[in-house]
Amino acid sequence: MAEKDVDVVVVGAGFAGMYLLHELRKQGFSSRVLEAGDDVGGTWYWNRYPGARCDIATTDYQYTWDPELLDEWQWSEKHAAQPEILRYAQYVAKKHDLYSGIDFEVRVDKAAWDDSAKKWTIHTSTGETITCRHYVMATGCLSVPKDPDIPGTDRFKGNVYVTGRWPHEGVDFTGQRVAVIGTGSSAIQSMPHIASQAKQLVVFQRTPNFSMPAFNGPQPPGRVARLKADRVAYQNEARMSPTGVPMEMATVSALAVSREEAFAMLEKSWRKGELLQIGATFTDVGINRAANEVVCDFMRSKIHEVVKDPETAETLSPRGHAYGTKRPCMDTNYFEVFNMPHVRLVDIRKKPITSITETGIDFDGESIEFDSIVYATGFDAMTGAIVNVDITGKNGLTLKKKWENGPLTYLGLTTVGFPNFYMITGPGSPSVLSNMMVSIEQHVEWIRDALVDMRDKGFETIEPTAAAEEDWRVHCTDCADITLFQDTNSWYMGANVPGKPRVLLPYIGGVGRYRRICTEAMQRGFLGFELQGNGKQQLNPGPVRLMQPDVEMMLDVMATLELPPIEAMSPAEARGFMDASATMRAPGPDVGEIVDGTFPGADGDLEYRVYRPASAGPHPVVVYYHGGGWVLGSHTSDDPLCRDLCKRADVMIISVNYRHAPEARFPAAVDDAWAALQWVAKNASAFGGKPDQIAVAGWSAGGNLAAVVAQMARDNGGPKLKGQLLLTPVTDGSRQSASYIENGEGYVLTKNVMEWFWNHYASAEDRKSVKASPLLAPSLANLPPAMIVTGQFDPLRDEGNAYAHALADAGVPVKRLQARGHIHTSITMVDMLPSGQSVRAHMASGLREFFAGN
Ligand code: NAP
Repeated sequence: MAEKDVDVVVVGAGFAGMYLLHELRKQGFSSRVLEAGDDVGGTWYWNRYPGARCDIATTDYQYTWDPELLDEWQWSEKHAAQPEILRYAQYVAKKHDLYSGIDFEVRVDKAAWDDSAKKWTIHTSTGETITCRHYVMATGCLSVPKDPDIPGTDRFKGNVYVTGRWPHEGVDFTGQRVAVIGTGSSAIQSMPHIASQAKQLVVFQRTPNFSMPAFNGPQPPGRVARLKADRVAYQNEARMSPTGVPMEMATVSALAVSREEAFAMLEKSWRKGELLQIGATFTDVGINRAANEVVCDFMRSKIHEVVKDPETAETLSPRGHAYGTKRPCMDTNYFEVFNMPHVRLVDIRKKPITSITETGIDFDGESIEFDSIVYATGFDAMTGAIVNVDITGKNGLTLKKKWENGPLTYLGLTTVGFPNFYMITGPGSPSVLSNMMVSIEQHVEWIRDALVDMRDKGFETIEPTAAAEEDWRVHCTDCADITLFQDTNSWYMGANVPGKPRVLLPYIGGVGRYRRICTEAMQRGFLGFELQGNGKQQLNPGPVRLMQPDVEMMLDVMATLELPPIEAMSPAEARGFMDASATMRAPGPDVGEIVDGTFPGADGDLEYRVYRPASAGPHPVVVYYHGGGWVLGSHTSDDPLCRDLCKRADVMIISVNYRHAPEARFPAAVDDAWAALQWVAKNASAFGGKPDQIAVAGWSAGGNLAAVVAQMARDNGGPKLKGQLLLTPVTDGSRQSASYIENGEGYVLTKNVMEWFWNHYASAEDRKSVKASPLLAPSLANLPPAMIVTGQFDPLRDEGNAYAHALADAGVPVKRLQARGHIHTSITMVDMLPSGQSVRAHMASGLREFFAGN
């Protein structure tokens, strides 16, 4: 007799539910696993259409938790077909006696949280009621076929098939007239099989898809050898990789090589027959439209090579979406199908279907009769299976209601208002953008560890905090914003289901990164969660440190380069290193004109560079001081940033050099910065600038100089400045703030590097001067309006913020922007880190506001 009150109810007996059952038993939890089908396998149970195969190679798409399986189970192919994967699931279920823990042909209709009992009550399709402490949805992401939403679907009297609900006995299309609607993965895989049997096949295509041949065959010996040689290392590499598959990562932009070279590189990736390799050929396929277009061109050229009729080839060639923003497909002879004389392609964007009829399909004035219609029209992805169950959390709130504007989760695992409720590969986790096996195992293990920890400590409930959920939403949006996904109508965005909120459903920050965040949340005492039980409460609001995804990627790359620490170098070596790094960066946008020259510094001539906008002048003028800790850099070292600000704000930027330490210590840089400002004020008109519209700006040590000269201009009778834009400025060398401790290591500008800069620049006594530490000025009143930008993970963050607060206290108009997830250097990395774009756009509008109305 099955238990009516258990520790855990799990919905679904696919690979997620099966592994979870195994782990729950191992840890001594009682459980019920409820499965709608009559066997294990989940997606591989339901999707039995001909040609169904896994697009991820079998070396990577298998369980890792039972190492014996690696030797016991021999995959026959690189990309296993559905029957073999289902047999694998059945084998594992038998081996580990999982069948005895699963109730088949049972659906969960309703689940409600009982806040007084601190338990879930589950109602099933068999009329059973089960109570449980924890409730897990392991329902898969692509398990609810979407309604085909075509008029007349219920009228057709012939055979109707849906790829995601294929008859177990198979279908023989021999001699039939068949229509296939849809050209996603399922259609692309099944089409060659259907075409080989059917007398006539008409394919109704709404959006063409990118697809590459799987080059299926035996498992690739290289991968198998690597896996067998060091299983643990291989699997760890998968777990920490961006997509859950060990893969060579790109090092070059698609725009940094010639088209011929780019195509040659893509050809190499193509030959590998691995789904994720094409997109990983270049660093910027996912984030840069022009780079992505190179890949699109290559993929389209492949279609034209195969499909003989140029018009059909063009109809099959995707033009409207970036590569990867709709799930790319893998096929075996898909495009070849369209060379067969009995196959016809109908572009329903040009020739829309008017109705399905009793005998066939009417479209664009034509009627065609069919024996069978195959709907390969996709799924209500990621959220469909979850909200299809009537789930009610605290205070009567249903999940459907909570998610009516899009799913809200913390870590894609849990959601506020629904205690002890978990989703495996849910929205807000890497899920469908990853190798599912890796993501499933990670979630199962996280849930298992959470349950064990709670039991050990006597907690009964776990629920994320509203703040943590909001942070996660913002972080997911930050990640999505730098990609090209949002411009495409895809099921990733919920766009395939009419009325579904448009939001990027999976987390796109990467599998390895996501794992680190989840692990950190647990290891640091369940950051972002509230735990309760037995009269105890543990509330740990966080924060999980969420860096911008591109910034983190850059730090990862830098870590692999094992660069020497700057503070171990001489100034000359550090300057050489900085110059060499500058040659590898993106150049920044074009501006109207660039002019170099010299001006009289405090102790001899110094260089300047003028960036003039393309618009007609005269322009407001910004005197810009470069970063580099008073030791490094020059008037050209922040070139991309100066170009970007010039263009965005439509202002003239004059970047001026100053003498550097240790050759010229404090106050030499200040004297030069001051001389530069006076000289610009005198000569602004000659440059085509407006002499009464001058502001100062600077980054880091340059921000320090800009702040200092703004005070000097106030105290010395002019020039009257319109504003000061200080980007991650140094404002107080006399002490170290909390951000030095929080962010002192690992974020390029370290505590040690900052100390190295200061030691070269100024003595301990000099640091107390207001010309070195503008925050120490006795009064900050009557200074020009300021915009102060700080980075969240910057040792100097608190100094910048302190200066902003002190200015505001002194009555100076201040705009303060703390750049979320940024480090000291990242905002300046124009065209390399897209997440900095919005920060620089704010900086530019800050500059415009300084000059507005004058
Ligand atoms: P899909 O990718 O969503 O494709 C559905 C197709 O039907 C699209 O071409 C879509 O056009 C079309 N469609 C939908 N509604 C339509 C309508 N009313 N009229 C005309 N056409 C319509 O679905 P899928 O092929 O089943 O694949 C879903 C996902 O499952 C895949 O992306 C993949 O992640 C997974 N999958 C994986 C494998 C594998 O690993 N081997 C195999 C199959 C599926 P639009 O594009 O215009 O919406």
